[in-house]
Amino acid sequence: MQKVADKLREEGKSIGFVPTMGALHQGHLSLMQRAKKENDVLIMSIFVNPTQFGPEEDYRRYPRPLEKDRSLAQREGVDIIFCPSASEMYKKGYSTYVEVEGLSNRLCGLFRPGHFKGVASVVCKLFNIVKPDVAYFGQKDYQQLKIIRRMVEDLDMGVEIRECPIVREPDGLAMSSRNYYLSFDERKEALSLSKALKCGRSMVKAGSSIPDVISKMERIIRRESHAKVDYIKIVDPETLVDVEKVKPGGKVLIVLAVWIGKARLIDNMLVKRM
Ligand code: AMP
Repeated sequence: MQKVADKLREEGKSIGFVPTMGALHQGHLSLMQRAKKENDVLIMSIFVNPTQFGPEEDYRRYPRPLEKDRSLAQREGVDIIFCPSASEMYKKGYSTYVEVEGLSNRLCGLFRPGHFKGVASVVCKLFNIVKPDVAYFGQKDYQQLKIIRRMVEDLDMGVEIRECPIVREPDGLAMSSRNYYLSFDERKEALSLSKALKCGRSMVKAGSSIPDVISKMERIIRRESHAKVDYIKIVDPETLVDVEKVKPGGKVLIVLAVWIGKARLIDNMLVKRM
C-alpha cells in the first residue's frame, strides 16, 4: 500500500481517503462520493480495529459483510480498498500508541476507556500507510472527528481533514453499522434518540435552560424505549466541555450515547441559538 501511495504521489495524483470499519451504509457512501469528486484517487480502508474495543465490547460480533462492502465500494468508484488483517497491523511486540489528551477524556471516553487511544493510533497508522492528501470523517462520530483533527495538527501530519454531515434514515435514525444489532422493536425504540435531539434543538433555539432541555430529552427517551442512557450532554463544539448557558447566537453540540438492547448508539446535533 505504501509503495502504491508513493507512486500515486509521484505521478502528482491527489489521494482522498475514507477509513471505515466496513458494514457499509449510506453514511459511509456519502463520504466516498465526496472524496471521489474532490480527488484523483479514492482509497477506502476496511479494518475492524481491535485496539479500540474494550474487552467486553462487540469486536468479535461486529458485522463483516466483506463481499457486499466490496461491491458497494466498487459502485461508488473506490479505486483501492485497503483491508489489512489485525495481525498485519499489530505485529508481535507492537507497543506504540497515540493519546490525544483532554478531548479523549470526555463524553464517550469516560464510558469506553482506551477507545480513543485505539482510534487515534490506528488512524495515525492508516495515514502513514495510505499517505492521503485529504481524509474524510463523519460528524456522526463527532468526538472522534475532533480528536483526529487535534492529532493531525499536534503531530504535523499534513493530512487535510474534511467533515461530512450525518446521514439519517428517512425517519430520522442516524445510520450506523450497529443498527444491524437492533430487533424490529428496538429499531422503533431507537427512533427516540433523534426525536429527543430534535426536541432538544428546538428548546435550545428557543432559549430554554440546559437542565430543562436535558431532562425533557431524557423523558422522551425513557417514555419511548427501554434504553440505558450513558449520557445526554450539551457541550461546547470545540472543547466538548459542558456548557452551563447558551447565549443568544451561541453554538452548542447536543450529544448522546444510549444503549438500545445490545447496541450502543451515539448521535448528535449542532445547534445555534437564535
Ligand atoms: P465506522 O465504519 O463506523 O468507523 O465509520 C467510518 C466513517 O463513516 C467515520 O468517519 C464515521 O463518522 C462515518 N459515518 C458513520 N456513520 C455515518 C453517518 N450516519 N453519517 C455520516 N458519516 C457516518
